[in-house]
Amino acid sequence: MLNPSAAKALESDLSFLKTSLDDADRAMYARDLWPRHHLAVRAGDVAAHKPHAIVWPTSTDDVVRLVKWAHQNNVSLVPFGAGSGVCAGVLPTPDVIIVDVKQMDRWRKFDPNGPWLDVESGHMGVPLEEKLNRKGLTLGHFPSSILCSTSGGWVAARSAGQCSGYYGKIEDMILDLELVTGTGEVVTLPRRAEGRSLLPLIVGSEGTLGIITSSTFRLHPVPTARAFGAWSFPTTEEGWEAMRAMFQSGLRPAVSRLYDPFDAMLAKQGKHKGAKKPTGSAPGLGALALRTLLKRPGFVNDVLHSEWGGKLMGGAMLVVIFEGEGDAPARSMEQARAMLEKINGSYEGEGPAQNWLKHRYSVSYRQAPVFASGAFVDTMEVAARWSSLGALYDGVRRALGEHVFVMAHMSHAYPDGCCIYFSFAGSGAPDAKGDWREACETTYDRAWRAALKAAVDAGGTLAHHHGAGRSKAPRLPQELGVGLDVLRQVKRVFDPKGIMNPGSLGI
Ligand SMILES: Cc1cc2nc3c(=O)[nH]c(=O)nc-3n(C[C@H](O)[C@H](O)[C@H](O)COP(=O)(O)OP(=O)(O)OC[C@H]3O[C@@H](n4cnc5c(N)ncnc54)[C@H](O)[C@@H]3O)c2cc1C
Repeated sequence: MLNPSAAKALESDLSFLKTSLDDADRAMYARDLWPRHHLAVRAGDVAAHKPHAIVWPTSTDDVVRLVKWAHQNNVSLVPFGAGSGVCAGVLPTPDVIIVDVKQMDRWRKFDPNGPWLDVESGHMGVPLEEKLNRKGLTLGHFPSSILCSTSGGWVAARSAGQCSGYYGKIEDMILDLELVTGTGEVVTLPRRAEGRSLLPLIVGSEGTLGIITSSTFRLHPVPTARAFGAWSFPTTEEGWEAMRAMFQSGLRPAVSRLYDPFDAMLAKQGKHKGAKKPTGSAPGLGALALRTLLKRPGFVNDVLHSEWGGKLMGGAMLVVIFEGEGDAPARSMEQARAMLEKINGSYEGEGPAQNWLKHRYSVSYRQAPVFASGAFVDTMEVAARWSSLGALYDGVRRALGEHVFVMAHMSHAYPDGCCIYFSFAGSGAPDAKGDWREACETTYDRAWRAALKAAVDAGGTLAHHHGAGRSKAPRLPQELGVGLDVLRQVKRVFDPKGIMNPGSLGI
């Protein structure tokens, strides 16, 4: 619980803020979308993670007064955007106050000729993009969670959008940001053309150094033309060699997504991401079949990832979209087509790429029905240089595959490397009372532990755009080495009392 003197002072000292101590609000803010915590929620258990209170500042001034009060009273704060994070970046305890910044969504400065925009951190993704589009501009940032995430959350978690191949990740878009540090000081950190820039310390800091109150982003004209194409490849490896060739030749498709054979088969059937309408909440026969298969994930993975399994499913599939002005996208597509067909790609037409674009945000916002039937689903996104990609793909797939059913796609590529996005599903045997939670949590933890170790062992990163939160923090020492000590020192400067999102990133 919050220390008693702070709890007593809270309502009078923070009377300038909209504040809630209501039990229902506290239950709503007890989580982000970390799948392991869904298992607790499914079992009706959110009590351990309800915050003491939630506050909604409306200006930087509000944030400064709040943080100074928290600093004086030794109260921990957890910044909150839209709670769409998936690695327990927000997992409050009863002694913290959640700071929901969504009422801070003003445009502070806008230069249509720059073009750039300084926008407050609580702006939701879709309305931001729609307002820019009405002015003929785009941010170019399209995470699949664009409907349920904020501009500040993107910066804090170092997000990547679906068109990262052309527009880059959020760290490539940001020009400066305003931060209220853990002592309540306001600092503006610009991207600097020379010398040292502190901006990269804050991008990806996941609420551990302060509250980002606004960010200035580079903008682009809305594209007026697009070109679409898709190719199948006998194996996933040949598919990523094709991506490497494209990016190293200087081509910059906005979208290039390579699906492994099982993922490709689902994509071809249009069964991806909510294309199927939800059918009520009761787990159906599909869930039962899935759970039966998940009892032997090793066997299922071996079959699906065998050479003949891959052939039977039609091989891997690469979906490509270029965008820009005039005939530039069509010309780039012609160049890509000549290149991809020389290296074993068979042209599948424009349909799969157009279909992908149509369903790009078809993410279901219900809890995945498999959770109701004693199973779980999750994703893991890691990255490596091209030379280590094979080891990373094989290592993580094998490590996960011992415990859960796994498939993968690659959706963010660069001249020097690529991100691999694993999706997996698992289960466990229920206890005598028919309770699944503990068994699922055991399988879940084993799978993640093995996969994170395999990622570091293969020379890959622990994450590419979801952040590390609390779920990946135990492996950060292996990935960062001395870098973690540097982060701890940096935290001492920005947040000497350690009140900002304590426990996240293990710092
Ligand atoms: C269905 C789904 C699809 C997704 N797809 C993508 C994707 O395509 N690309 C991608 O990058 N991510 C994706 N994500 C992950 C998630 O949406 C991103 O991490 C997003 O950037 C989080 O934004 P948010 O506003 O919801 O932040 P939150 O979840 O509220 O917070 C994330 C972290 O940042 C901190 N934080 C939030 N706001 C601030 C602030 N103003 N100042 C300081 N710290 C802050 C929080 O304390 C927390 O540690 C997806 C998630 C889901 C559920």
